[in-house]
Amino acid sequence: MANHSLEVLKLSVLFDNHFFDGAPTQVHFIENSTMVGTWIDEQGAANLTIGLDRIQFMNSDQLAFLIAHEYGHLVLKHPQKTLEIQQQYGVNSTFDEFMLSFDMKRDYSKLMREMELEADLLGAQLVLGLGHDPVAGASFLLSETKSIQHPEGTLRVAKIKSGKESIQAEDFSGTFGDLATQLSDAEVLAALVPSYTQPIDSIDSTVKAAVESWPASDTEGGYAGDTLHGFEVSVLLTVAVLVCALPRWWRKTSGT
Ligand SMILES: [Zn+2]
Repeated sequence: MANHSLEVLKLSVLFDNHFFDGAPTQVHFIENSTMVGTWIDEQGAANLTIGLDRIQFMNSDQLAFLIAHEYGHLVLKHPQKTLEIQQQYGVNSTFDEFMLSFDMKRDYSKLMREMELEADLLGAQLVLGLGHDPVAGASFLLSETKSIQHPEGTLRVAKIKSGKESIQAEDFSGTFGDLATQLSDAEVLAALVPSYTQPIDSIDSTVKAAVESWPASDTEGGYAGDTLHGFEVSVLLTVAVLVCALPRWWRKTSGT
């Protein structure tokens, strides 16, 4: 599990550098949850929440696709668009969604599902660029049924499969030199927690897994990787648990 969380953080650092000039996406891990989603907070910062139960048994193709899909939502500004659509349709909750009239629900659903397919395609583009197979990566979607916000998983995978030939692999060589995926765990942790001064016990469970202090790319190779040698990775990752209140524009995601 710890390795999965680290992998998520590495991908997050890579994508933040590639798409957002290194502006950190706040990554929140939630224990005993399968929820995954992206949202923008009141300060305008991007947030990514990962239920640890969701990723626990994923292989690296699947994990990469999941995170790439979520970044697809962020890059394509879907949290903002979701909010606009929900305001337009007067939706404040899943109950409101359910209560929409037949015609409104159909139109609303179409808009929401389109965003999922867009995020899938961008996600596929990203994982291809990272050397993963998008169809294998998306395989966890196959068991997912259709919902108001999500198309059925089989359709999503079929779309990726049929588009595979024309999907352009994202070129990561420019922005970050693929560095994040090559870093050792200790280096990633060192970058995430550069000056670790507090004893573990004094950090409560609401501390975020922040990617705030990733060094600028001109300091490549200059990480204080040694400071965390011998550090218990799994212990540090318990720091990364944040149970956040769900904003009302939360993309309902037992899936993604
Ligand atoms: Zn999604």
